[in-house]
Amino acid sequence: MSDIILEIKNLKKSFGQNEVLKNIHMTVASGEVISIIGSSGSGKSTLLRSINLLEDPTSGEILYKGENVLEKGYDLNKYRTHLGMVFQSFNLFNNLNVLENVIVAQTTVLKRNRAEAREIALKNLKSVGMDSFANAKPAQLSGGQKQRVAIARALSMNPDVLLFDEPTSALDPEMVGEVLKTMKELAESGLTMVIVTHEMEFARDVSDRVIFMDKGVVAESGSPEEIFVNPKEERTKEFLTRFL
Ligand code: ADP
Ligand code: MG
Repeated sequence: MSDIILEIKNLKKSFGQNEVLKNIHMTVASGEVISIIGSSGSGKSTLLRSINLLEDPTSGEILYKGENVLEKGYDLNKYRTHLGMVFQSFNLFNNLNVLENVIVAQTTVLKRNRAEAREIALKNLKSVGMDSFANAKPAQLSGGQKQRVAIARALSMNPDVLLFDEPTSALDPEMVGEVLKTMKELAESGLTMVIVTHEMEFARDVSDRVIFMDKGVVAESGSPEEIFVNPKEERTKEFLTRFL
């Protein structure tokens, strides 16, 4: 078994009285591609947001390379730099061109010098097929192109794990394929990825492991075959009949 990067233990998250995550356990090993599927409202985004501490977990442990990041004194800013996130809504800076979007966090957060950051940005823009748009503003791009820039930006931070929250859900149908193709290439390159998605064919194709969430719990997890071909749980079957 390869190295464990993240281990989530007994993770709970409530918003007021609403317990959205109940006792989540999961591990992410180096090089693994994990897809998280489940109905809207089942807690998938809250789980990703809790893992990268955009939400403050109510209780539980998040072990990063064996150390609990929720313990007092842990350097959370440092921890956050090890995780990348790609959002449904791209979250590009609209006033900056494509290249600057990919440079800015490298110089401000990682303190890279501009020349190095620029070189890394161009390399990653090239890998997602967006290098020829370096001088364009986000408003000039299609949704699929914006999302590929957002992926290049995340890659430029050299994350140990890249989290994706429904990266194709906001796209026009004809843009979905180019983003999934980019993500598949990343998966094949050995990047560690956790992907919340409704693209079942894609999840089945690229994942090492699939997690089905229902009402704040991991209802079932296994290989793509186990989940998509031979699901054990009634609620997994019921969910999949709505999607496949
Ligand atoms: P999913 O991503 O699976 O659709 P979410 O994690 O977005 O599910 O939401 C799970 C539940 O948590 C929903 O009931 C949602 O209303 C609630 N929730 C999510 N974020 C917040 C928040 N910031 N404040 C209050 N409730 C929230
Ligand atoms: Mg969501």
